[in-house]
Amino acid sequence: MSDDARKLVIRNIGLLLSGKIENPILDGDCVISIGGRIEAIGFEKDLDTGDADQVINANGVSLAPGLIDSHVHPVIGDYTPRQQQMHWIDSTLHGGVTTMISAGEVHMPGRPKDIVGLKCMAVAAQRWYENFRPSGVKVLAGAPVIEHGMEEQDFKELAESGVKLLGEVGLGSVKDGATAKRMVDWARKYGIQSTIHTGGPSIPGSGLIDKDVVLEAGTDVVGHINGGHSALPDDQIICLCESCRNSLEIVHNGNERAALLTLNTARELGKLDQLILGTDGPAGSGVQPLGILRMIALLSSLGNIDAETAICFATGNTARMRKLDAGLLEPGLSADFVLMDQAQHSPGNTMLESVRQGNLPGVGMTVIDGIVRSQRSRNTPPAKRLPEIE
Ligand SMILES: [Zn+2]
Repeated sequence: MSDDARKLVIRNIGLLLSGKIENPILDGDCVISIGGRIEAIGFEKDLDTGDADQVINANGVSLAPGLIDSHVHPVIGDYTPRQQQMHWIDSTLHGGVTTMISAGEVHMPGRPKDIVGLKCMAVAAQRWYENFRPSGVKVLAGAPVIEHGMEEQDFKELAESGVKLLGEVGLGSVKDGATAKRMVDWARKYGIQSTIHTGGPSIPGSGLIDKDVVLEAGTDVVGHINGGHSALPDDQIICLCESCRNSLEIVHNGNERAALLTLNTARELGKLDQLILGTDGPAGSGVQPLGILRMIALLSSLGNIDAETAICFATGNTARMRKLDAGLLEPGLSADFVLMDQAQHSPGNTMLESVRQGNLPGVGMTVIDGIVRSQRSRNTPPAKRLPEIE
């Protein structure tokens, strides 16, 4: 059996969460994937479930697209030198995350800051995570931090070498809006997405990036709009929400009050589709295996937003803004899923109600490219019900 034809059937699903903010809940109880891609979504009785290579009985739990962490700082493999921690990516898979996006491999000891060196490291990091997925997790990495002296040709070379992301603008020597804009425009011209370090310095060596620099740079993502960790003053966050048409990224390792201000401002402006979530880990605050679930519970409960909508911030919104082939329950996209249920003894009558009250769900299984990658989470509270491989 080649992987190209492998058929997975997940049946008896209690709730289908689409990842689409305009329609977060779908009708159906069954998802089929073939060759790692979603083939069909609907009711089991209407679908062709025969000849499956694997059948999963969801036992009534909810299925959502695998969560996406829009802001991580990986270095190499499943090890981070920042907190001397092994297997942080595997731990995060147990928090429902199936895709991570690098905002720069900035914790590499001895990280090169000369132009040849930073380009080489970006290409190498892109390759080593493309060639090795820790526990199956998709880590989109190879995100160089821009430095003074880079020219258009450098961005062209990076793009031709497979680099698709910039690390956070502001973590290198470029901290002025005019230079940042010139380089971000070159990056965009060659198809490289950009993000920026919004707010005060995070660790010794980084600097203040205020709203004027963020607006002038015009990156595709307003990285950690709620600070990483020090947030900008409220009036500047509100101004960014009003002015930016690109992604407004809220992170776990930021200021929670500023996260709620961003949510409330985006809601008033009708911009909830621009909100995306990250952890910004590993960082000085450590690593957060449950960081994305914690953000969903925080924003849903204290921000008064339906849990199914908050889940879209960490799935479909990010996928659309980042142009990923995952993050939504749609035929043709990657079969990346998280199956979860209400945590045992948590309040509320359903998983969504318990999250709305600030509780984490229990993860029962993750699937990436149509392959089961983890079963009962070792990190979340235990779920009431668990999916089973039949
Ligand atoms: Zn940052």
